[in-house]
Parts: sequence; structure tokens; C-alpha cells
Amino acid sequence: TTQIRIGIAGYGNLGRGVEAALAQNSDMALVGVFTRRAPEDVATLSPETPVFAYDALSTDAAQIDVLILCGGSKDDLPVQSPELAARFNIVDSFDTHARIPEHFAAVDASARAAGTTALISAGWDPGMLSINRILGEALLPEGDTYTFWGRGLSQGHSDAVRRVPGVAGGVQYTLPSETAIASVRAGERPELATRDKHVRECFVVLEEGADAAAVREAIVTMPNYFADYDTSVTFITAEELARDHGAMPHGGFVLRSGVTGQGNTQGVEYRLTLGSNPEFTASVLVAYSRAVYRLHRGGQVGAVTVFDIAPGLLSPKTPEQLRADDL
Ligand code: NDP
Repeated sequence: TTQIRIGIAGYGNLGRGVEAALAQNSDMALVGVFTRRAPEDVATLSPETPVFAYDALSTDAAQIDVLILCGGSKDDLPVQSPELAARFNIVDSFDTHARIPEHFAAVDASARAAGTTALISAGWDPGMLSINRILGEALLPEGDTYTFWGRGLSQGHSDAVRRVPGVAGGVQYTLPSETAIASVRAGERPELATRDKHVRECFVVLEEGADAAAVREAIVTMPNYFADYDTSVTFITAEELARDHGAMPHGGFVLRSGVTGQGNTQGVEYRLTLGSNPEFTASVLVAYSRAVYRLHRGGQVGAVTVFDIAPGLLSPKTPEQLRADDL
């Protein structure tokens, strides 16, 4: 059997993760990385991976079954996804939740006109958590859905900590509140305010001579970022920051708590504990590119989301193998 030929557009954390994930999927082959930077400036994980200029995507030379878009959601994907769906089957991880309907419409118009297949907003949230939210709602129509995130590194909140005067470096983790999760698991269906659901943990390196108490106060009272949460601040050394806080962990829970027709309480829970957010997201994108390849071969064109993809299409196994091994 021939391998599915994959291209990577954009090479940041996610692009690196896709390169690594493809090495674990023997039914796929990496054609190369396409970057807006000078190709010689981009160092790939494997020295064998070809790196091309982004413009090479507009020539007919590219022999790609599915292009995985690894650009940022804020500025890259709103432009790149519609543009590239006009030439390729694509998968993206667009995660600006409020903008998903307009992104879908733009990509769908482009893909329909070109006869390509495009899956938007794959990943874990949106993505795997979204699937589990609709499963919970469909199976337990009388109930409540809860999403908790973390323990995870938050880029925006880490930046906010680093801007506080007297701070030389630092990171911020968001953690789900154990009390809140315990209440949901017990079937109490609590009403949770923002501050009840998550707590924030900061690890901060002080500048020489900075006033620790003043720095702590500036962080925990910062409007929009920390004032509405229970926030802890732990002071560490620059060595500890480098040694213990270089990874990008994340994760989350989706819980549905409800009652069925005869009054019994039912609980459903899905949990992700991720050592690396971009590496896991990349693995999801790779599995969904297999589904996009199959949909396209089956004649389906236009944009789709994770809600439209049957689980069997994600697996390298045949439907016969899946029925025998996994049902
Ligand atoms: P990065 O900032 O690492 O990369 C984004 C783009 O920036 C790259 O495609 C690359 O494009 C460019 N870039 C990267 N490094 C450099 C550099 N050193 N110099 C210049 N340009 C660079 O973002 P991530 O890969 O971490 O994440 C991408 C998006 O994925 C996020 O914006 C987020 O929206 C989404 N995401 C979605 C998730 C989900 O669950 N759905 C989960 C996690 C992320 P180029 O090579 O063309 O220069």
C-alpha cells in the first residue's frame, strides 16, 4: 500500500510535533516542511526532513495528499487556511472558539470551489474535549457539562507575570480546583463561578534587590489576570526556572453529570494529562489527516470539524480489523 503524503505548513512547536508524530505512523510519509522564513534558518528535528519556502506550495510540484497547517490561530490561520484549502486537502488547529463559525465559512467556500477536503479546529480543545462535550449532552440530555483545564502552562498569564516590575522571569500554571471537581464527581451539579473552577500558580524569579512582598501583591491583585482567582506565588531561582519549568504541560477534563429517566444519577468523565501540549495536539492533527485523506478519496469536499469524523476513520486499522479487535 502507498503511504499518505503529508506536508507541514509552518514550523513552530506544533510543526515540530507533527514531524515527530509522523515518525510513529508508518502509513504516512513526510514530504517536507514549508516555512515563511528562509529555509536554511529552520532547523528540523531530523536532518533528513526537507525544508522548502512557503511559496513552493503555489507551484504544481508539490505532491501532497494532506497539508497540516501549524501556524498560529491569531494571525496565520485566518489567512492561510482558506488560501491553502484552494490547493490542498488541509487540517488545522484553529482555536479561537468565538471565531470558529466565520473561519469554517471561509475555509468551506474555498474548499468547495476547489474540490478539496478541509478539517478545521482539530486538537484537544477545540478537538477531543469538544467531542466529549457533545457525547455527554447527547447521552444525558438532563444534566450539566463541566470543562476544567490544567494543570497547564498559560502563555498569556506567564507573560503578564514577567511584565511585573521586579520580576526577572517566571511561569504561570492554571490548575483545576480539586474541590470543584470532587463536587461534580459526587453528582452535586454545582453552579461554579470562574474563580471556583480554577486556581493559578506562579513561579517567579526576582530581580536583584526586588521587594518580594510588593511583587506578590502586584501579581495577585492584577485585574483580568489574577484578581478574580486564588493565586499562589512561589519564588524560585533562575536555575530552578530553567531546570523545572521548561516543558509545556497541559490537559483538561470534560465531565457530564446528569440523571436518566428513572432518576438515577449518571456521570461521564474524559481526562487528558499532557506532558506537552503541542506534541499531543500534533498527534491529534496527524490522526485527523488520515481521516481527511479517506474522506477526500470517498468524494467528500468542503470543510468539516471533528464532529463530522467517525472514529474508525482516524485509525490505521481497517474496519474489519477494528470490529475484530476493538469493539
Ligand atoms: P508557534 O508560535 O510555535 O508557531 C506558529 C508559527 O510561527 C509557525 O508556524 C512558524 O511559521 C512561526 N514561527 C515559529 N517559530 C518561529 C521563529 N523562531 N521565528 C519566526 N517565526 C517562527 O505556535 P505553536 O506551534 O505553539 O501553536 C500554533 C497554534 O496552534 C496556536 O496558535 C494555537 O492556536 C494552536 N493550538 C491549538 C490547540 C488545540 O487544542 N486546538 C492546542 C495547542 C495549540 P513559519 O515556519 O512559516 O515561520
